[in-house]
Amino acid sequence: MKPKVAIFSLTACSGCISTLISLNIFPQFLERSKISNFSFISDIKEIESSNIALIEGCISEDSQIKKIKEIRTQAKKVYALGTCASFGGILNLSNVKKAEPISNYIEIDGIIPGCPPPSKLLGNCLLRMIENKNIDLSKKNMCANCPLKGDLELTFKTNNPKIYLSSDQINLHDESSECFLNKGILCLGPITRDGCDHRCIEYGVPCEGCMGPVSKDFTSNLINFLSLVNLSDDLKNYKAIFYRFSKPKLMGG
Ligand code: SF4
Ligand code: SF4
Repeated sequence: MKPKVAIFSLTACSGCISTLISLNIFPQFLERSKISNFSFISDIKEIESSNIALIEGCISEDSQIKKIKEIRTQAKKVYALGTCASFGGILNLSNVKKAEPISNYIEIDGIIPGCPPPSKLLGNCLLRMIENKNIDLSKKNMCANCPLKGDLELTFKTNNPKIYLSSDQINLHDESSECFLNKGILCLGPITRDGCDHRCIEYGVPCEGCMGPVSKDFTSNLINFLSLVNLSDDLKNYKAIFYRFSKPKLMGG
């Protein structure tokens, strides 16, 4: 029998859902599952029972807490779709009162990180879900498979340049194939989970951490990382950059 899948949006930019419906495998996913709730393609408002519920977006209003609790009672498995649902996400940097991950209120069965999740990862996760298999996320950091890695550890220790925020210094067409940190540009690859196929890095943009922390010990990883680099003054006081996508999950708000 086809698994019933319900897809919900909380406070979100709809980037995760847009990625989902743009996937090459989306027609196959529709064919192999039975969609119950999905506001993009159905008018059904009542939360129906399902085998799998995917929730996009963070909790920013109390009414959403009641909603996700009901989703939890109706779904056998619940997954956080994207970084907002998984960690609170970028909305935490705005002036909304709260931007919390869904796991602050309900038990979840897994996350599909990314802002939005990378197509390949999301496609694999959807297929595994409808085959009743667990989601398998990388346990490595971004540097492990980075095309710019080179001999990072060696040069990092001997070079130790001052690290600056990159935004004004990025050259999208920079042909240099050197690790950003060795060029003195902040890259959060060492403390970020691998799995995005280095999309930003291949476009000449350093990792900003949207895939979330590579381990539960993010804060101690961050402290270790920061102790190895020589931060410029602007970065020393700019904590939001290190917790841009995951502060609500990691620091409780
Ligand atoms: S994780 Fe990113 S793409 Fe998805 S809803 Fe949040 S801000 Fe939008
Ligand atoms: S710090 Fe960034 S650029 Fe350097 S190896 Fe890691 S992910 Fe790649």
